[in-house]
Amino acid sequence: MTRQSDDAAPALHPDTLLVHAGRKVDSETGAVTLPIHPSTTFERDPDGGYSRGHVYTRQSNPNRAQLEQCLAALEGGDDACAFASGSAATMAVLQLLCPGDHVVLTEDCYYGTRHQLETLFTQWGLTFTRVDTTDVDAVAAAIEPASRLLWIESPSNPLLRISDLEALAQLAREHDLITACDNTVATPVLQNPLHHGIDLVVHSTTKFLGGHSDLLGGAVIQRADFPHAPALRNIQVAGGAVPAAFDCWLLLRSISSLGVRVRAQAASARTLAQRLQGCAAVEAVFHPMLAEQPHHERAQYYLPGGCGLLSFTLNGGEARARQIAAATRVFTCATSLGSVESLIEHRASIEGAGTPTPNNLLRLSVGLEDVEDLWRDLEQTLRS
Ligand SMILES: *Cc1c(COP(=O)(O)O)cnc(C)c1O
Repeated sequence: MTRQSDDAAPALHPDTLLVHAGRKVDSETGAVTLPIHPSTTFERDPDGGYSRGHVYTRQSNPNRAQLEQCLAALEGGDDACAFASGSAATMAVLQLLCPGDHVVLTEDCYYGTRHQLETLFTQWGLTFTRVDTTDVDAVAAAIEPASRLLWIESPSNPLLRISDLEALAQLAREHDLITACDNTVATPVLQNPLHHGIDLVVHSTTKFLGGHSDLLGGAVIQRADFPHAPALRNIQVAGGAVPAAFDCWLLLRSISSLGVRVRAQAASARTLAQRLQGCAAVEAVFHPMLAEQPHHERAQYYLPGGCGLLSFTLNGGEARARQIAAATRVFTCATSLGSVESLIEHRASIEGAGTPTPNNLLRLSVGLEDVEDLWRDLEQTLRS
């Protein structure tokens, strides 16, 4: 029995889609949990055809197809392409461009995106301009005749600035630019960029979607009628940076709990952000739900649920920040974000030269621990 057919999808609540989109009970065995299909190759029909839909696992695999169907449903997209990492997904979008094309991108976007452009794509003839995408006029001023892609990360990372997706999508349409939004930090539970007129959503599924620090993955989800959909699928299939069947299966298993995880993480992050504001050791706190933040009204519109990340800067500079990151007990000092365990990180030292991240900034990825345990850990460390 099919638990959810495609034409029923729009009627279902997103929380229901998290559990059911792309899944079905196995018709042969009745297994409620999806089987894993590690097979790299699939049998041809007597006439040489492939009526059962799969040929070779780089082209398509049942577990990947289920994952892609789920991701498309969660973001309200037409289709999705799953990749072996978030970086491979980013790269696929950039590979849609041609030598001589120009990219406008969020100034404080994920540092790996900037690193890809600098170290891999300048030699392919792409140029780019980093700009504060919270300022639509600044974006308009950065658009050149050769501009072809507007890459937005909102909330940005680690400063958690909120861009006006609808105004940017409108501006991009006027200039015939593709828009892509890295939605890793918000997740499809808290923000759906396609609903605001964006063409492509990119995720590092390594983060909140995977949620347990045990898989690497990425995805690009496209709006209906995205003209470069066949080119994107070709980059995935011909390029071959595809996830293994087991990782697709594990990711889909994790997505079932995404809603409860992310909402709990966002609620705890907001509590910690508010309390950190009152600490003498803290210089400034960055979280979209703080009333004192710039673009707070915009955050209420795009991200009313908040998000599970926050950052803060410390009085006492870089040395003090590094000391605190090393001294917490419940927060683990490690990179990455979105998992069930809370992480604390000195960002500037991992992002390297050219980062706009202040060197006295710590980023917190808030997990599922008791919020009072997390707060005591922070407070005691800040006082020590
Ligand atoms: C981690 C991350 C990426 C890159 O994803 P990988 O899975 O590590 O390749 C891209 N964007 C954001 C916002 C991220 O946090």
